[in-house]
Amino acid sequence: MADDADVIVVGGGLAGLVAATEIADAGKRVIVVDQEGEQSLGGQAFWSFGGLFLVDSPEQRRLGIKDSFDLALQDWIGTAGFDRDDDHWPRRWADAYVAFAAGEKRDWLRTMGHRIFPVVGWAERGGYDAMGHGNSVPRFHVTWGTGPGIVEPFERRAREAERSGNLSFRFRHRVDALSISNGVVDGVSGSILEPSNVARGQSSSRQVVGDFTLRAQAVIVASGGIGGNHDLVRQNWPKRLGEPPKNMISGVPEHVDGRMIGITEAAGARLINRDRMWHYVEGIRNWSPIWPRHGIRILPGPSSMWFDATGTRLPAPLFPGSDTLGQLHYIMSTGYDYSWFILTQSIIKKEFALSGSEQNPDLTGKSWRMTIQRATNKGAPAPVEAFKKNGADFIVRDHLEDLVSAMNALSGDNLLKPEHIKAQIEARDREMTNPYVKDAQVMNIHNARRYIGDRLIRTAKPHRILDPAHGPLIAVKLNILTRKTLGGFETDLDSRVFGQDGQIIKGLYAAGEAAGFGGGGVHGYRSLEGTFLGGCLFSGRNAGRAAAKAAG
Ligand SMILES: Cc1cc2nc3c(=O)[nH]c(=O)nc-3n(C[C@H](O)[C@H](O)[C@H](O)COP(=O)(O)OP(=O)(O)OC[C@H]3O[C@@H](n4cnc5c(N)ncnc54)[C@H](O)[C@@H]3O)c2cc1C
Repeated sequence: MADDADVIVVGGGLAGLVAATEIADAGKRVIVVDQEGEQSLGGQAFWSFGGLFLVDSPEQRRLGIKDSFDLALQDWIGTAGFDRDDDHWPRRWADAYVAFAAGEKRDWLRTMGHRIFPVVGWAERGGYDAMGHGNSVPRFHVTWGTGPGIVEPFERRAREAERSGNLSFRFRHRVDALSISNGVVDGVSGSILEPSNVARGQSSSRQVVGDFTLRAQAVIVASGGIGGNHDLVRQNWPKRLGEPPKNMISGVPEHVDGRMIGITEAAGARLINRDRMWHYVEGIRNWSPIWPRHGIRILPGPSSMWFDATGTRLPAPLFPGSDTLGQLHYIMSTGYDYSWFILTQSIIKKEFALSGSEQNPDLTGKSWRMTIQRATNKGAPAPVEAFKKNGADFIVRDHLEDLVSAMNALSGDNLLKPEHIKAQIEARDREMTNPYVKDAQVMNIHNARRYIGDRLIRTAKPHRILDPAHGPLIAVKLNILTRKTLGGFETDLDSRVFGQDGQIIKGLYAAGEAAGFGGGGVHGYRSLEGTFLGGCLFSGRNAGRAAAKAAG
């Protein structure tokens, strides 16, 4: 039987698109199969903020940030905490990926027309020692055009390849099995789903109207993670983070269903580090949802005060933006799966950003005029103000007693004592008089403002929370928001998948989130942020190039 293509790519997200375009550019024939309709091409990356981890970039240098491969690798290793035999390939991927981020990544994207917003963000700031978790310096480079701006070059290349006949898409084709002949993966089979005209990101019908089989010399699995499937998240929830949360909201569309992970495992692939995941603790329910249980992550600046469900301030260094999994661990240890920010209008205006392309029309629409208004406007950006007004998790009051009483009403748990909260805020506020203080969060604020990027658009001028001139007061109930899968299929640096017997499975490759962004877990336990899209670029590119070369 003749092959339908040289290579089949399962998944038209960023990793799949990168792999497919590399294969087509190498002159090979490739088919991209996706269960969703054409309107969802690009997968999660379209919805993303487009943040990219880059090291020693011209953008950093212009802002006076001194970064290097050695510093970035130190941060990566301190953050990853690799400690398992299974971390052999993830560790090798980490070295290679940091070199990519410090080397050709930016120029490779730039030649395809990709551009970067000039103010570099500072995510996961850590707060431990130099060898611990976190970015020593700002490295989060936001794509000019956010998520759509990172998908665009690859979609363009894919469309060109489609026109030249090297690439074809099969939308609404859901892979249900991999086919194997003489130990070599040589195709896929599955169900054709009924056409769907739902808007991008919305849940589409799973009604089957036919079946299909496709044959090729190799298959690349680029089907994403498990974040849209809360049952799978709970099933794989690591004991070290306590009990799985009872309530979670979804930071990804429903198609991030993890189903293809099980299918690939059933074909003999070795899945490692399945208990490593990256979920956020600053999730808010979307008042205008696109997918089921749709939540948005607040990307917080450093000044909001953070309280657990009982009204106790989170311990140092668990300040906003410091250590996502440290915060998740602490919150789950309280016996409740939510926490609270308390802040002022001055803080929300300068420090709240919402992750997601649709929440940042200025950057997504590439509008300099609107973007400059972030620094000059009286209010917060319009999407943040809209959440403040309409979001179920936001409370705005002039007086602290009223705020706390509304917080108790919203949670229904009645755990917050106004005098307990007031004492903690007043104590923090007394630390605002001097720029040298003992409160570690206040020290952090002063530190942040020494970086020009933070001073411009990310960190409010230090002030007392209870100063009415900076009011009104705002409380935000923060939910746990599922997002990324850090474990995945064990792969070598060519993205070839290992089998459960420790041998490479011929003809099988994995990339993107399905491969733990490379190797089966390039991040180890934690991420430095902006590393997921980059992981799709790097592992997708490696998979595509290797599969094209092997196709002979
Ligand atoms: C709101 C949001 C903000 C984000 N912001 C950032 C950021 O700023 N920086 C960053 O680095 N990362 C960010 N991320 C994460 C990043 O976007 C994702 O991790 C990445 O895009 C995953 O890409 P992927 O190609 O591996 O998988 P996906 O995008 O999930 O694509 C997988 C595709 O496979 C298809 N598929 C699955 N199973 C099957 C099957 N059985 N048959 C056929 N098709 C199948 C799916 O339909 C889907 O189209 C963000 C994510 C979101 C949602």
